[in-house]
Amino acid sequence: MIRSVRGVHDILPAEAGKWRRVERAAREVFEAYGYEEIRLPLFERTELFARGIGEATDIVQKEMYTFDDRSGESVTLRPEATAGLLRAYIEHGLHVLPKPVKLYTLGAMFRYERPQAGRYRQFHQLDVEALGDEHAALDAEVIAMLVELFRRLGLADRLSVEVNSLGDEASGCRPRYRTELVAYLRAHAAGLCEECRERAEKNPLRALDCKRPECRPVLDRAPALGAFLCADCTTHFARTREYLAALGVRHVVSPRLVRGLDYYVRTTFELTTAELGAQNAIAGGGRYDGLIKLLGGPPDPGIGFAVGVERVVQLLPDADREGSAEHRARVFVIPLGEAALKGVLPAATALRARGVAVEVGHGDRKLGRELERAGRLGVGHVVIVGEAELERGEAIVKEMKSGTQRAVKLGELVEALLALGGRA
Ligand code: AMP
Repeated sequence: MIRSVRGVHDILPAEAGKWRRVERAAREVFEAYGYEEIRLPLFERTELFARGIGEATDIVQKEMYTFDDRSGESVTLRPEATAGLLRAYIEHGLHVLPKPVKLYTLGAMFRYERPQAGRYRQFHQLDVEALGDEHAALDAEVIAMLVELFRRLGLADRLSVEVNSLGDEASGCRPRYRTELVAYLRAHAAGLCEECRERAEKNPLRALDCKRPECRPVLDRAPALGAFLCADCTTHFARTREYLAALGVRHVVSPRLVRGLDYYVRTTFELTTAELGAQNAIAGGGRYDGLIKLLGGPPDPGIGFAVGVERVVQLLPDADREGSAEHRARVFVIPLGEAALKGVLPAATALRARGVAVEVGHGDRKLGRELERAGRLGVGHVVIVGEAELERGEAIVKEMKSGTQRAVKLGELVEALLALGGRA
């Protein structure tokens, strides 16, 4: 037997209803805020991610599925959606559209991580990006929209919203902080794990994110970024929080919230839950004002977030599974014999064309066995066509729950079943 690849999972029909529910809610909420869908390739040139995510990040250093294709070009399965979306924005000149340009996409991402609960090698994200506008009101709107998605899913009360400002490169507040932080981390290297010591040199802000308890005492006393913010970044953050308050979004400032990708500036945010153990981040995002230019586009600012769909689905109650029943057959047609099968196929096709889910037996099984199958499928009605019925141009329509049955002309079968409406 060939098994699936480690860290890669099937989504079985019993779970698919929850997935559909999340996707439907996401489309409704994002579109209500003016976002349009964009569909992007699953793989891109490797250099896009090296540049767009950052050479020093964990993702680029050790988590990418990278290979040479048959022409020798290095390509990579997308580990996140932002870089590809910005590539498309630049490549198709979408920056000429009225700003902010609001886009969302849904799909699989790939990272070679150590698989564990809530952490997979193929996983799915809902990804949202608003491009070309740097107003703090947009930062707040993006966060409010993310919260609205979870309110719609009935999960908002189980999540907390954390926000922070990372300062920015251009004004110099982040470089000043970085210098200070590196000096501190080097001075306290003895109290840090090897990975943190490495990060102190390559990607110092990420060290703050280390989950190891032995590193916490040193990291918790590290200088905080907030004290280093320049006047513009301070104002931007304060205004973002004012708009969040005006939008009714409760949040906490989390001074150590840094994110895995290099390109974030100013506003960063995360939705976390206490319910999923170590993998407590459900969604995360932030502003990345220099990135579009870095990728060869115009100097447009941007802000966005990604939601981890597996983690959302895990939080949803099993009752949401019922969603998967919506496509299950509502009518089971049981022809008895070859002639009956051929005689009833047009009616089955017409019903399906009208949106009724229909299962058709093959005509070669005994009635009792077929009724048993209909019972297991949980259909509302069965349509039985035997030789005698066929001769009379009729079918028997039986309601499964009550067991009552009546004869219906074959020509009137479609209308009769449609008239049963929700009970069909
Ligand atoms: P990131 O793109 O790393 O900012 O991640 C955004 C969200 O995607 C996280 O908050 C998680 O919910 C989810 N996520 C990231 N990596 C994984 C993974 N390996 N497996 C499952 N979900 C993930």
